[in-house]
Amino acid sequence: MIPSPAQEAVMRDRPANPARRPSWRKACRDEGFRVVAVRPGHLRRLSRNTGEVWIPKAGWVRFRWSRAVPAGVRSYRVTMDRAGRWHVAFAVIPPPVPAPGNGQAVGIDRGVAVAAALSTGELLRVPSLTGRKRARMRRLERRLARAQRGSQRRRRVRLALARLKARETDRRRDWVEKASTDIARRFDLIRVEDLQISNMTRSAKGTRENPGRNVRQKAGLNRGILRSGWGLLMRRLQDKAPGRVEKINPAFTSQRCSACGQVDPKSRESQAVFWCTACGYACHADVNAARNIAAGHAVTARGGCRSAGPVNREPQLLTSLTGRQ
Ligand SMILES: [Zn+2]
Repeated sequence: MIPSPAQEAVMRDRPANPARRPSWRKACRDEGFRVVAVRPGHLRRLSRNTGEVWIPKAGWVRFRWSRAVPAGVRSYRVTMDRAGRWHVAFAVIPPPVPAPGNGQAVGIDRGVAVAAALSTGELLRVPSLTGRKRARMRRLERRLARAQRGSQRRRRVRLALARLKARETDRRRDWVEKASTDIARRFDLIRVEDLQISNMTRSAKGTRENPGRNVRQKAGLNRGILRSGWGLLMRRLQDKAPGRVEKINPAFTSQRCSACGQVDPKSRESQAVFWCTACGYACHADVNAARNIAAGHAVTARGGCRSAGPVNREPQLLTSLTGRQ
């Protein structure tokens, strides 16, 4: 299972004990079962892209052989996702991607407009749904909200919505796998900003006594972060390149000039453009930040509160300066 953002937050906070409180089972969510102690004869290939697996109480079940199954698998999991698709997954821990040995380090910055910027200047975009598909999704969501609970119509609408969403998440996961393998193959050392995603994506609403500021903007940013699959990309990078991913304190990486080192919030011309007030170096803002991250510069704060500057970047600036991890 790919964890939800909430589960991801728990896994990060308590990596030794990622379990949460038990809760009620819910229909359509996490449907499936696991089969252990698989005998070698219970899995066979029928053709180039079909296979058969023996499922207790059900018998031989055909599936599409979409990728190599290593010899000696001992367990598999059969799941049905919300879009009604059945999957079979054979459990195996793949070997990590070998380091290229070229001594190169890369910095990756999380963007909102683009999913990630590399210090090499590459901008990685997550494929997402087209405007028409997104409009259809909103329409279906409205229809779902009006449908009576437990009705046939509600079930139909929910399935249509789940199919649409599945298309988007499939694309995003595919992208994450390709991007993480590519990065793990090309660079020896991968430096990323140590973002507290749960803090960043926490609702900005606040309470009635203490209403939050910039609630709309923050909500938009939250959607961007969650949709861009940043957390998943980080996790897959760590899986594929264990010991080669370094987390850098992200403080000031977006305000520091990667050419001369000057730190000035005014250098950040806009969301997309960095223009150094000292040396005139101009660059894509996310690429500039990625270069700072690649260099591993964790600039320490020199006292005082920051008054100017974008509100949405680097929240908790003064409390997050706990040094590199
Ligand atoms: Zn400069």
